[in-house]
Amino acid sequence: MVTGAAGFLGSHLCDALLAEGHSVIAVDNLLTGNLRNLAHLKRETRFSFLEQDICSPFDPGTTDYIFDFASPASPVDYMEHGIETLQVGSIGVFNLLELARKHRATFFLASTSECYGDPLEHPQKETYWGHVNPVGPRSVYDESKRFAEAATTAYRRYHKLDVRIVRIFNTYGPRLQMNDGRVISNFMKQALRGEDLTVYGDGSQTRSFCYVSDEVEGILRLAWSKAQEPTNIGNPGEFTILECAKEVLAVTKSKSGIQYLPLPQDDPKQRRPDITKARTLLGWEPKIDLRQGLELSLDYFRTEVESEPSVTHHVAG
Ligand code: NAD
Ligand code: UDP
Repeated sequence: MVTGAAGFLGSHLCDALLAEGHSVIAVDNLLTGNLRNLAHLKRETRFSFLEQDICSPFDPGTTDYIFDFASPASPVDYMEHGIETLQVGSIGVFNLLELARKHRATFFLASTSECYGDPLEHPQKETYWGHVNPVGPRSVYDESKRFAEAATTAYRRYHKLDVRIVRIFNTYGPRLQMNDGRVISNFMKQALRGEDLTVYGDGSQTRSFCYVSDEVEGILRLAWSKAQEPTNIGNPGEFTILECAKEVLAVTKSKSGIQYLPLPQDDPKQRRPDITKARTLLGWEPKIDLRQGLELSLDYFRTEVESEPSVTHHVAG
């Protein structure tokens, strides 16, 4: 079972699981996802889709592995759906943990680098406890994921449930939701339309971007390993947001300029995964750098931009 299957990562995970020969029950309430991401699987006999909010109890039948990717994921989305975000990481995760117990399934939690908050340790190792504002605008997401990690770990500790926890760092690629305000989708859209790229603050904050095929490969290696504790999966190549804007302009061959907008509250100043654990435990490391990944995503963004009205979503500064 894959929850959040109609979203960006969930849909790629469904593809990868089917390619490995598994059968997949896809679950999603379509809050931020889109059935278009699964349209190519319509005739696949090993695939079924259930429209379902994971915050309501449900049981689609026997399953041996639950991948939980259901949650608003971008700052624009989780700030718009703050209560739903807190619920999906608590009530939703409890429902799935109970389902995993009932079916003796393994439970895999899609967690996030946001657990580290605005990190004071750099790069971030799994042992770092983080620096999170519990009542700031990002807390609906950060604390929901931190709670989800605690709940998952408690089911392992108290019920001996087999669990995996991946801390995903900024991932991008085809099927990234066009209207969720993430930096790569905003910049690609703006560059392809010849609009100014909106850089928040002075653009000196950093992120480390992982291409989707690398991320899914890491997720599957973790899934089939025995690692019960949180594991970072991300690309350690670190860029300032201004450097990222320049990469996008180069790949799109765009003449767009830069427009500076206010930096949103609590926006992390730096982020880079320490992937020593994934390298040693899973033999995994990313292969695709930012330039290549943007080139691989170009056709997708171009097609989306041609079929979409010109609206760009922003986090309030
Ligand atoms: P996305 O918004 O594209 O996908 C999330 C999916 O979850 C959507 O299809 C949405 O409709 C679904 N969903 C939300 N609430 C639900 C509910 N209550 N019941 C059922 N379905 C629900 O986002 P994404 O980037 O694919 O993220 C997937 C997962 O990976 C999320 O848990 C996110 O926190 C995590 N993650 C993603 C990134 C990234 O860079 N993409 C980074 C860190 C963590
Ligand atoms: N950002 C930006 N312009 C945009 C969207 C985002 O400068 O149009 C910045 C944002 O302030 C953050 C970084 O890009 O520092 C990554 O933002 P995103 O929303 O993609 O993800 P985050 O890592 O903050 O969850």
